[in-house]
Amino acid sequence: MAQPTEGRAPAYIDTTKASIARVYDYALGGKDNYEVDRETIERVRQVAPEVNQLAVDNRAFLIRAARFIATQTSITQYLDCGSGLPTAENTHQIVQRLQPEARVVYVDNDPTVIAHGRALLEDNEFTRFSPADIRDAEAVVSDPAVQGFLDLEQPVALFHIGTIHHFEDSDRPQKIMQEFVDRLAPGSVVAVAHFFDPENADSELARRMEQVFVHSPMGSGRFRTMSELEGLFPGLEMVDPGIVPCYQWWPDGPQLKTEDDVQRCIAGGVGVKR
Ligand code: SAM
Repeated sequence: MAQPTEGRAPAYIDTTKASIARVYDYALGGKDNYEVDRETIERVRQVAPEVNQLAVDNRAFLIRAARFIATQTSITQYLDCGSGLPTAENTHQIVQRLQPEARVVYVDNDPTVIAHGRALLEDNEFTRFSPADIRDAEAVVSDPAVQGFLDLEQPVALFHIGTIHHFEDSDRPQKIMQEFVDRLAPGSVVAVAHFFDPENADSELARRMEQVFVHSPMGSGRFRTMSELEGLFPGLEMVDPGIVPCYQWWPDGPQLKTEDDVQRCIAGGVGVKR
């Protein structure tokens, strides 16, 4: 794993508070993180030694979903909510390799992502960055980065990948997604990945991880059930194989990796608005 760069935090970064984006960066093996961020993952590791696999599978799902949309649909507009810090394969790199003029808007309100990530993410004329709150669909679609850049009368690919499990029930996640879907044109697709409580023998592991995440410096990480996840795709027609553990969502080939328990505790799916 890469060694983090401690002690060189710019003034705009508060290294006393954990950041979702930096915790995720650490779980993916990145170096844009601090002790307070690493503490969250190290605490969860006590109950789930393979905890990093949650992040790895989440990111691999994003890459496969992006490739799927870029090759199997005619969509050329992407709204990536909760983009996170730049990593090895960012959405615009994945889709613009296949569709060079695909437009991508990244949305994230983490100060580290805003200050440090936006320059790297907005690296060509077909990408933009918005600092909107992704719990507010109207704020996202009316942001200047979206208006006049994406044509919302045409289909869009909306990503909410690894984001909603950081929302409280009181945020009403299903209502948030309904409000996004209401603003999308027919033919749009929605990709979501979310921590998952499979309501079987693996539930205990999901519950243990949830307890540690919500009481960690990061303070969030809800593992929701299949019916709760289905509510995140309101009125949408699910692409095969539906909502499944992320590592099983593989429409263009077999999954070769051997599964472990943690991998059954993060699920994803892609739905189409007809
Ligand atoms: N989507 C990326 C992926 O799947 O690889 C990154 C996922 S990361 C776990 C979640 C991101 O959502 C973080 O960068 C965090 O800052 C962002 N986020 C969480 N809540 C947010 C909010 N209310 N508004 C904007 N961004 C938010």
